[in-house]
Amino acid sequence: MTVPVFRFAPSPNGPLHLGHALSALVNADMAAAAGGRMLVRIEDVDVTRARPEHERAILDDLDWLGIAYERPVRRQSEHADDYASALERLAALGLVYRSFLSRTEIAAAIAVEEARNGQPWPRDPDGAPLYPSRDRDRLEDEAEALANAGHPYALRLDMTKAARLVGPLSWQEFGDHRDGPASTIVADPAAWGDIVLAGKFVPAAYHLAVVVDDALQGVTDVVRGRDLYYATAVHRLLQTLLGLPAPRYHHHRLITGPDGRKLSKSKGSEGLAALRVAGATVTDIRRMVGLG
Ligand code: GLU
Repeated sequence: MTVPVFRFAPSPNGPLHLGHALSALVNADMAAAAGGRMLVRIEDVDVTRARPEHERAILDDLDWLGIAYERPVRRQSEHADDYASALERLAALGLVYRSFLSRTEIAAAIAVEEARNGQPWPRDPDGAPLYPSRDRDRLEDEAEALANAGHPYALRLDMTKAARLVGPLSWQEFGDHRDGPASTIVADPAAWGDIVLAGKFVPAAYHLAVVVDDALQGVTDVVRGRDLYYATAVHRLLQTLLGLPAPRYHHHRLITGPDGRKLSKSKGSEGLAALRVAGATVTDIRRMVGLG
């Protein structure tokens, strides 16, 4: 029998809050119950946002929570080669193009389209507008000339072509009890449009890095927050294109703040370290996140 492999994959962009504690504890509890392995992965591929002091604080918080994980932890910033090979593979399938529009240009292009059509421009499940440009149809020499002239660009996936290539996709979603029945969820990656695969300073965008890492680390059970539920469609698409195995998924409930919104690192809400300094115990944290 294969041993299940779980992972908690924080981005070191800020301190951990109660939402992360729930995620880490649910992973650790499920791994323990299943006699599985527990990994921690530092998702610092976006070097413009990741900070080593946040990584240290995150690992301290996990130790304090009593979460036993295997060492060394995988740090995405040390594995650019793995992401580059995956990108090459997607490019060899003719699915990658250079996109040159800045954020402001994207907003302007969408405003023009909305005025012309009298309809809102389509948005992805996170509410961001789909990439509007026809960069995808640019000839290779033209894109090369723009890049050589110093125009910054990101690499994007040609979603229409990719989705057509792989056909219908789904994933297995299990509930609070890992051994209970799982549901087959139909994946709709096209809802995300032409996603970014890599940026100027970022060797791989989140979606690409996460599927490569989960496969390289042999992750069998991806347990994470409900906020990433729809992103799973993109992950299934990339896994299929790259010939990677499909883990099973469990997207747990989110912890919301007093305003009813999901906690965020940037708002500094309900930071674990602050609660610890204020005298909270691990039992208190478990109770606060509803793990009793
Ligand atoms: N790094 C992501 C985050 O901190 C989690 C990614 C995942 O679990 O797939 O939100």
